[in-house]
Amino acid sequence: MQYLLSGDSLVLDQALCNGCGRCEEVCPHAVYSVVNRKAVVANRGNCMQCGACRMNCPAGAIAVSTGVGCAAAIIGAMRRGDGGGASCDCA
Ligand code: SF4
Ligand code: SF4
Repeated sequence: MQYLLSGDSLVLDQALCNGCGRCEEVCPHAVYSVVNRKAVVANRGNCMQCGACRMNCPAGAIAVSTGVGCAAAIIGAMRRGDGGGASCDCA
């Protein structure tokens, strides 16, 4: 699923990244890949701005505006008319 907000606010500072892979582990939508010990944003359009990567990055290499990710996804589904099964796909 791609989201309206589509990770617009997601910023990754590769200079700070230590390649630990934590962002890849915690992201519910496989936005990151770690290549040659550096994280890369491989699927920006999948980001629903939940903030899990930012909270779990030990290097402070990630910035993202949060607080609307799940709600925006569900509201978007409802506006499209498929709100009966609306989900942010977190789980
Ligand atoms: S969690 Fe942070 S330091 Fe670890 S790979 Fe991801 S961006 Fe790099
Ligand atoms: S904000 Fe959430 S969905 Fe977006 S990249 Fe980070 S963990 Fe993944």
